[in-house]
Amino acid sequence: MELTNIGTVRDILGRHGFSFSKGLGQNFIIDPTVCPRIAENGNAGPGWGVLEIGTGIGVLTKELALRADKVAAVEIDSRLLPILEETLADFDNIRIYNEDVMKCDLRALIEKEFGGLHVAVCANLPYYITSPVIMLLLESRLPIQSITVMVQKEAAQRLCAKVGTRESGAITVGVNYYGTPRKLFGVSRGSFMPSPNVDSAVIRIDLNKEPRLSQEEETFFFQIVKSGFSQRRKTLSNALSSMMGIEKQRVYSALGSLGLSESARIEQLTMEQLTELTLLLIDK
Ligand code: SAM
Repeated sequence: MELTNIGTVRDILGRHGFSFSKGLGQNFIIDPTVCPRIAENGNAGPGWGVLEIGTGIGVLTKELALRADKVAAVEIDSRLLPILEETLADFDNIRIYNEDVMKCDLRALIEKEFGGLHVAVCANLPYYITSPVIMLLLESRLPIQSITVMVQKEAAQRLCAKVGTRESGAITVGVNYYGTPRKLFGVSRGSFMPSPNVDSAVIRIDLNKEPRLSQEEETFFFQIVKSGFSQRRKTLSNALSSMMGIEKQRVYSALGSLGLSESARIEQLTMEQLTELTLLLIDK
């Protein structure tokens, strides 16, 4: 069954009386080149288990299952289940979980489904929860090695910006703390049904094997990042003294030892400088 053929898709959806939910970010891929590219770039292959978030009618699920040993997919919309039974009938290596990814016990799911396999995440993410899903996957420290996801073009730019530039934000630092993000390719709005108002891009994040900092340092690091970016137009010393109560003088001297001026703002600091700053300012 060709799940990128508009006629076929209309026929399946029509027979099941399915209507798209805008609220659930339902824009299904109809460009036949996109899903194979996501699967091929997303570690779907022998020896791998792939977690998919949001199956739609299974167009990406199928490409993942053709390549990986196992696919487990979390889909919130129960109306899609009878459709998936039909579209994925030929596969015996796919398990669908009818759950909200934000509430699902992903650790238990991964343990149950992917024992002995390397684990990757691949998805065309629903736009309304792109950042929360990515941060959930990263912060939960799940045993996953890569996250390859389609997101809005603007989100991709922010996620893959260089830390220490004006294009970066708290999410850029968050992603770079846990791994290395890079943009793989752009996808135009015409590649979806229904077509959204924005273009998209596929990004891949390779996760670090070891944490950069201890648990306590990590908490402090993210307090600094949150405080700095919530007042990004202010100098870092002003932001940290008003939000975290750290004396300006301490911030000045920490910035000085990193070769930065007293008027530095958070968006000017590289990942290494942010990490160093954390170690200099944390109370031991
Ligand atoms: N993978 C399909 C494709 O590429 O055509 C569908 C992608 S569509 C952008 C997003 C999918 O995520 C939809 O099927 C939607 O129902 C599902 N979804 C939305 N919110 C979700 C949530 N909180 N948990 C799990 N799935 C969700």
